[in-house]
Amino acid sequence: MKAQEEILTGIATSRGWSFEVYNEGIVSGVTISARPVIQQLLEDARTRKFSVCLIIEFERLSRSQDLLDWLEIKKTFRDAGIKIQTPQQSYDLSQAEDDFVSDLLGILSKREKLKIKERCRRGIEKAKREGAYLGGLPPMGYIANRNTKRLEVYEPEAKIIRMIFKLAETMSPYQVCRNLNANGIKTPKGHLWRERRIRQILNLITYAGKRKLDTGDIVDLKLTPLVTMEQYKKVQMGKKERLTRVHDTNAKYLLTGILRCPYCGRSVCSWVDKRTFKSGKLYERHYYTCSRKRDATCSESKLTPMDKAERILVNAVKSVIAYPEKLTMAYRNSGAYDEAKTIKDEICQVKDRLDEAQKRKENLIDAVANNTLSHEDVRDKMKSLNDQLSYSEGKLIKLEKRLREIDGKGIENVIEVIDRFRELFDNSDVLRKRELLKALLEKAALYREKIILHFRFPVNADGSNIVVAPFIERQRAPKPALESTISNILASTLAPNYKN
Ligand SMILES: [Zn+2]
Repeated sequence: MKAQEEILTGIATSRGWSFEVYNEGIVSGVTISARPVIQQLLEDARTRKFSVCLIIEFERLSRSQDLLDWLEIKKTFRDAGIKIQTPQQSYDLSQAEDDFVSDLLGILSKREKLKIKERCRRGIEKAKREGAYLGGLPPMGYIANRNTKRLEVYEPEAKIIRMIFKLAETMSPYQVCRNLNANGIKTPKGHLWRERRIRQILNLITYAGKRKLDTGDIVDLKLTPLVTMEQYKKVQMGKKERLTRVHDTNAKYLLTGILRCPYCGRSVCSWVDKRTFKSGKLYERHYYTCSRKRDATCSESKLTPMDKAERILVNAVKSVIAYPEKLTMAYRNSGAYDEAKTIKDEICQVKDRLDEAQKRKENLIDAVANNTLSHEDVRDKMKSLNDQLSYSEGKLIKLEKRLREIDGKGIENVIEVIDRFRELFDNSDVLRKRELLKALLEKAALYREKIILHFRFPVNADGSNIVVAPFIERQRAPKPALESTISNILASTLAPNYKN
């Protein structure tokens, strides 16, 4: 900036001009309306305070993507009969030829801006890949050296980080947290540790001297790692193991996440009745019950035997999906089919409106360029057009999103989900079964004599998605008389012989 000012004052002095410097320093504003120095320059141009505007390059005046800015500058200078001068060339804006060139330069600066953006993005990408420190708050255990632009180990914190990783090799984050607090070790700010913070620290691959890129690649960082990669991996493995352990206790229960309490609508949870008889015999039964049973805020405290609930639900689901042609009908009759059509129409309309607004915007720019409209006339119109454009664009995005949602419930998808269910369900483990069920069902509730299923797609002839399936409790078969049992066994063993 200083150097540029010297060049310009040098030129002005050598030509014997009296001059005034307009220096706006480093500009962050994109449009000229956000740049007070340019505003002052234009104001002074209107009152003809000077006759030549000397600039180091055209881009100094307008870097804006908004062509209007350039038109405003040009018009102001032309009306006041002021020339623009760069060290290389002089522009007389009242002459057609120069007009052309200056307009071109205005557009060039806009392209330049895009180029700069692209260059920046590539620069960051490259720096990421090379493992450079990108700025921002350094993680605990490091401080940023502004001169070398590197992260350096900050020993008082680093030793706590190492300790946390060491502890985490055998402990859960919760235990690590309690351990630190019990031993009077505080956070850098002097607070007690929280489990969340420990988890965050253990997740940070930076401590192993690595960075994970968006592409999934892992690169080396230019810093001294606090833990080895082996240690880091070991802690991550431990985390996975703990997670699967938690899952295992849940793995028996097929309907968690699907079944709801029929009285309060809350999800059900598992309930184990476990006891040891005096004889030493173990007794264990599994149930589903309202998750509010524990704190007694739901009046429903019924326990539903696990196997019974699952049997009833799976049978009900299977009977509903047994007839795909019925489901196709249901889809036709549901609102989804019509809604998709309406949305498609609406999308066309919005697109038309977008095109129109874009066209009007271009016309306005032309009008200003041809002097048929003044700059002031156009400002407001331009603003409302821009608002309209961004509103329509937002609406278009929403509509397209909704269309995708509906298409997800399209009949092809439904049939696919059902086929998958039929093929895999019976031979899958509980976790997989649950996943398959969840693809079909939103939720379900089990009452004394009926089950209510909320499907994710229309299943009834009227296009609705809720099925009420009554069921009859399997009655305990009366014990057959001894005599008839024996004759039955005899009959079944003899049966093949009769056929011969
Ligand atoms: Zn409840």
